[in-house]
Amino acid sequence: MISDEIRLTVLGSATPYPRTDNPCSGYLVSGAGRRVWVDAGTGTLAALQHHVALDELDAIWISHLHADHCADLLTAYYAALHADIRLAAPIPLFGPPGLADRLAHFLTHTATRSPIESAFAVEDLRDGHRVRIGALTLTSAAVRHGMPAYALRVDAAGRSLVYSGDTAPCSALTGLAEGCDLLLCEAESHEAPGAGERVHHTPEDAGDTARSARAGRLVVTHVGPFLTPRRAVDRAAARFDGPVDHAAPGACFTV
Ligand SMILES: [Zn+2]
Repeated sequence: MISDEIRLTVLGSATPYPRTDNPCSGYLVSGAGRRVWVDAGTGTLAALQHHVALDELDAIWISHLHADHCADLLTAYYAALHADIRLAAPIPLFGPPGLADRLAHFLTHTATRSPIESAFAVEDLRDGHRVRIGALTLTSAAVRHGMPAYALRVDAAGRSLVYSGDTAPCSALTGLAEGCDLLLCEAESHEAPGAGERVHHTPEDAGDTARSARAGRLVVTHVGPFLTPRRAVDRAAARFDGPVDHAAPGACFTV
């Protein structure tokens, strides 16, 4: 019997570069027999294969086009078209507008554009974008990261998971996360900058977002190089009464 529960498996959570024991941002979200690779940061294609082969994915969802969230799409393309994998159909790929051209520009090395559409069925995200992957409903909201960037809500059988992507605190994220069971929220910044546009959460911000959204639990991720996971969890927990964990590589959360 296929379980209705949503499972979040952390493939990696390091930023801005992968560490020996932690790839960059990437997650496997599964439920009701469907599997979605959420963010394809450096090193996550390798980690993904502990759980699922590339040709067994139902979709890929990309929050934004910073390399630590999407660089492994490049090697996934080679895997899909030039290796031992035989796709029955291009993998549905949801990402910010321009993703298809960005991939093609990097991958094309002759006069002929690389056929990325043979590997990926690319669909641009927009604010409010919604798609059903089997019993999973994926809803995207535009967030504040100084470039096109999206947060993701996954609903299935009355349970819900929200992933911030990269963003400053914003009402779009809080609204998307309203009443969710688990909020996976970035906590990149060790201190809020005094001036200029903010593009990330601090751990305190993550706690505040979880509290404002009335999330059931908080998992902090994308913890920056000037923070430790322990410190990030403690700082977030000072602002949020629910359970707080770190998105350690290999960790699995049942929603
Ligand atoms: Zn980013």
